[in-house]
Amino acid sequence: MEDIVIIGSGPAGHTAAIYAARANLKPIMFEWFMAGGIAAGGQLTTTSKVENFPGFPQGIDGIQLMANMRQQAINMGTRIETKTIDKVDFSSQPLKLFSGNEVIEAKSVIIATWAIAKRLGLPGEKEYRQKGISACAICDGGLPIFRNKVVVVIGWGDVAMEEALHMTHFASKVILLVRRDVLRASEVMQERAKANEKIEIRRFTEALEAMGDGNMLTWVKVINNQTKEESTIECSWLFYAIGHTPNTEFLWWQITLDNDGYIVTKKMPVHTATNVEWVFAAGDVADKKYRQAVTSAGSGCMAAFEAQKYLQENK
Ligand SMILES: Cc1cc2nc3c(=O)[nH]c(=O)nc-3n(C[C@H](O)[C@H](O)[C@H](O)COP(=O)(O)OP(=O)(O)OC[C@H]3O[C@@H](n4cnc5c(N)ncnc54)[C@H](O)[C@@H]3O)c2cc1C
Repeated sequence: MEDIVIIGSGPAGHTAAIYAARANLKPIMFEWFMAGGIAAGGQLTTTSKVENFPGFPQGIDGIQLMANMRQQAINMGTRIETKTIDKVDFSSQPLKLFSGNEVIEAKSVIIATWAIAKRLGLPGEKEYRQKGISACAICDGGLPIFRNKVVVVIGWGDVAMEEALHMTHFASKVILLVRRDVLRASEVMQERAKANEKIEIRRFTEALEAMGDGNMLTWVKVINNQTKEESTIECSWLFYAIGHTPNTEFLWWQITLDNDGYIVTKKMPVHTATNVEWVFAAGDVADKKYRQAVTSAGSGCMAAFEAQKYLQENK
C-alpha cells in the first residue's frame, strides 16, 4: 500500500510531490497523457511564456517550467506513472484508485487534477489557439502584442468583467460580447465595466468564427442574434471568459463537490482537507477564484504538509 498518491502533474501535483518526497513519504504520482489534447504536465504546457512565476526574470516557456518541476520531483524521489485515474473508492481504508484494471491502494491521496477553461469550439479556434485566442487575460494580458490594440472578451459573469477591466490597462479598446441583454456579473462589477470608457459592451452578440492571416488571429466574425446581422471585429486577441470545468467526474459520489463541480475543501484549520478523511485537494480543481500556477503550487505545498501531519498523527 502507498502512503501517499498524488493525482495530477501540474504545478500543484509536482509541488506536493517535492514536499512529500522530501518528507520521505515516497510519493507516487499519476498523470493523464494528452487529456483533451494537453500534455501530462498540465495547462502550462500549452503556453509559450510564463512571466509571473517567480524566479524567472525573463519569463520561462511553459513546457520548460513543467519539465523543470517534473525533474525536481523525480530528483527528490517521486515515482511518476503516466496513467489516468478513472475511478476511486474512498468509502474505507485503504483508499482505492483505479486505472483501467489496475487497483492502487493508498493511505492518503492528494487530488491535483485541473479545471479547464470552457471554449466555444468556433471555426478557426484550433488554428489560432494561443495565437490570438486564449482563456486567461490575467495570464496573457501583459504580452506586448496587446498594447494599444483592440481585444474581444466573451462572457457575461464576474470573471468576464474582471478580464475586460484587466485588459483596459493594455488594450486601446475592449469589446465585451454578451449573448443576451443581461449580464450575470455582480452589480459592482457590472458598474465598473460600464463606467470604463475603454469597454464597449455588445449585447445580443455571439461570435461565429475566428479568422486570421494564418499566423495570428486578426478578426472575429460576430452575429447579432436579434437582427441576424453579421459583422467582423478587427482585433489582436480573443479571450474566453465563459467558465471552467473542473476534472472531477471520476470523483462523483465519493467526495463533496460544489454546484460547479469544484472540490470543496475545509478552509480552517486545515486548508486542503476534503470531507473524506485522508483525502486532500490542491490547485485549480479546488480553486475557482485564482487559478494561477503559483497559487496551485502553494496549495500543493499545503496539501503535502497537511497529508504528512495526518499520516504522522494517525499511524
Ligand atoms: C494557455 C494557458 C496559459 C496560462 N498561463 C499562465 C501564466 O502565465 N501564469 C499562471 O500563473 N498561470 C497560467 N495559467 C494557469 C495555470 O496553467 C493553472 O493555474 C495551473 O496549471 C493549475 O495547476 P494544477 O496543478 O492545478 O493543474 P494543471 O496544471 O492543469 O495539471 C493538472 C494535471 O492533472 C492531470 N490529470 C487530470 N485528470 C487526471 C486523472 N483523472 N488521472 C491522472 N491525472 C490527471 C493532468 O494530466 C495534469 O497533469 C495558464 C493556463 C492556460 C490554459
